[in-house]
Amino acid sequence: MTVAVLALQGAFAEHENVLKRLGVDCIELRQAKDLETPYDGIILPGGESTVQGKLLKELGMFDTIKEQIENGMPVLATCAGLILLASEVEGQEGCHFGTIPMCVRRNAYGRQLGSFRTKGQVDGIDGEVPLTFIRAPRIVEVHGDARALAKVDGRIVAARQGNQLGVTFHPELDDDTHLHELFLQM
Ligand code: GLN
Repeated sequence: MTVAVLALQGAFAEHENVLKRLGVDCIELRQAKDLETPYDGIILPGGESTVQGKLLKELGMFDTIKEQIENGMPVLATCAGLILLASEVEGQEGCHFGTIPMCVRRNAYGRQLGSFRTKGQVDGIDGEVPLTFIRAPRIVEVHGDARALAKVDGRIVAARQGNQLGVTFHPELDDDTHLHELFLQM
């Protein structure tokens, strides 16, 4: 199994470290020709969604990745990556990939509370997992077939639709590998 990590900007190296720890081969997606290498799943890392969205288009990678996701390629998207998948971004016209029917609010926890850690339950994982938030978005609501998988204080922090798993936190920054394992099962 080979997992491709989008490596344009943000916390991609941390995801690669988790994959290595789990013994999974990974490649980096840095330019359009990298999309021709066969792989079984994609990780969209945290960072800055506006920058990532712009680079994906400028580098000619956007349409191919969108098509792969629409055709069932498993995706794990964290934080900014999750914003790329949302069909609606509050206060913003249009969206990026827009492949999960859900509305997200960027930087939803304000400046002071922008970054914090807690623990919580995620559907499909036994026990609690650490949840690390960094200027995190909030999933305001999910629509259609999308399902909320985890909540913190009543706010949705993880959602899944079929082959797509999106979280507003950063599992790649903690030692717990359950979330990545859930993705690898997909
Ligand atoms: N605030 C970032 C954005 O809006 C997301 C933060 C993150 O990925 N840690 O894109």
